[in-house]
Amino acid sequence: MELTVWTYEGPPHIGAMRIAASMEAVHLVLHAPLGDSYADLLFTMIARSAGRPPVSYTGFQARDLGGDTAQLVKTRLAETVERFKPQALLVGEACTAELLQDQPGALAEGMGFDIPVISLELPAFTRKEAWGASETFHQLVRSLLNGRPVPQGAGDPSARAKAEGRRPRANLLGPTALGFRCRDDVIEVTKLLDTLGVDVHLVAPAGATPADLARIPEADFNICLYPEIAHSTCVWLERMFKQPRVRTVPIGVGATRDFVFEVARLAGLDPAPALAQARTRLPWFSRSVDSTYLTGKRVFIFGDATHVMAAARMAREELGFDVVGLGTYSREFARELRALAEDIGVEALITDDYLAVEARVAELHPELVLGTQMERHIAKRLGIPCAVISSPVHVQDFPARYAPQMGFEGANVIFDTWVHPLMMGLEEHLITMFREDVEFNDGEVAAPARAVQSAEVGEPDAAAPGAAAAAKAPGPNDSAPGDPAPSDPAPSDPTPSDPTALRWEPDAEKELRKIPFFVRGKARRNTENFARERGLTEISIDTLYEAKAHFGR
Ligand code: SF4
Repeated sequence: MELTVWTYEGPPHIGAMRIAASMEAVHLVLHAPLGDSYADLLFTMIARSAGRPPVSYTGFQARDLGGDTAQLVKTRLAETVERFKPQALLVGEACTAELLQDQPGALAEGMGFDIPVISLELPAFTRKEAWGASETFHQLVRSLLNGRPVPQGAGDPSARAKAEGRRPRANLLGPTALGFRCRDDVIEVTKLLDTLGVDVHLVAPAGATPADLARIPEADFNICLYPEIAHSTCVWLERMFKQPRVRTVPIGVGATRDFVFEVARLAGLDPAPALAQARTRLPWFSRSVDSTYLTGKRVFIFGDATHVMAAARMAREELGFDVVGLGTYSREFARELRALAEDIGVEALITDDYLAVEARVAELHPELVLGTQMERHIAKRLGIPCAVISSPVHVQDFPARYAPQMGFEGANVIFDTWVHPLMMGLEEHLITMFREDVEFNDGEVAAPARAVQSAEVGEPDAAAPGAAAAAKAPGPNDSAPGDPAPSDPAPSDPTPSDPTALRWEPDAEKELRKIPFFVRGKARRNTENFARERGLTEISIDTLYEAKAHFGR
């Protein structure tokens, strides 16, 4: 085990905590030193959960090590069952406690509790957090389904549902505390399944009780939403209870369509109505893909395997990015990720060392990094735009608003999230959009616009000056917000022969320059019209704001 400032994953007992914290009526007793209760903060401060996780620590200290630490475990077990009255008890140990060899699981099993006791083997020196979560969920499900019969008709979802005169039903497996946008993904996938004609039987571990887990086989099939957490459980359920599993993770428009087809095939349903109701903005994406800030952007992707693989597909097939590098800290899924990297023609980075990731990002010089909160720090230091796509995350990645990653709405959210860091204040694509548009230009390119305007107010010969300059439209690098020339609107040139000439007071002119360049010309013309209509010959700041209020009504 490596001590480091940052880690992608904690030790496996943090994974066990994630399962306990996700569920109802489950409690985890953790044989761990006093300081381990720091982990509560992951749930209360980062994941913004309202209460402490259902975890009781033995909390041994240095002075306890000379005494009977096994008795400490037994006392904490008895107190926990008495106080919290869980439906099932998880028992595990943290890294340091492993060295004490007190065997807390065996101690709990010998205490005669009348609830299921699940003794967790969490090898802290060889495994990590996601494995710990996956193993805990798997052991819990196995323990609660032990000896249960395989339901009649299992294995053929369509026939079973028809025989029982109901809609097909599925379990959503994998969402957990500290997962990436799990809460909203479940809502989105549930809506999607409903339009397809499939009911969600139960969601687990998030929000489930042990009694709910015992009902898992009643569903016709399982949907493995987060393979890092639920893959081994889904494979076991398929083998033991003949429950087929849906393998596609619906992140991105293409993957969501594939997901709809896979579920429809399994459940014997027509996918067309669900696809027809899809509120995808793909056509809009496609138009944006042609804009200067998306096509061919060089992107580096790192995170858990599921989100990285989904992001790579979206980036390449839906946004027109060029994936120049990718990797994962999920060693259990290294094979799949290597295969994808080979397909793309890049080398997969399989590591849990953030310094190795930083070195790869620095070497590749991508224009966008899609990663975890670690890559957010790395990208910030290197001055590269970044969007977070995967755990581990920080508090801002548990937004109060609805922000799924899955389904068609999830793809819309992802598009916004990835594109915003690239826009750098709008100017690049606005210049492109408005470069030919005389309505929104002034200065060199605005002469025709002013000519039109002048003609409207009775100045027929004002068109010629500056018309030649209009041939040169500004390019993306010609100006930036706040830079006056060359696309800055020129003030009207008051001459004695020009009866409509207006004089801008210096303060008003200064205020006008605060308006973004691409609407400044229009603001100038509107203000001058407003002033002329009122017989004014000078424009002050007050005139500018009165005009603004007038046109804003
Ligand atoms: S037991 Fe492990 S996780 Fe807990 S404080 Fe010690 S090293 Fe850290």
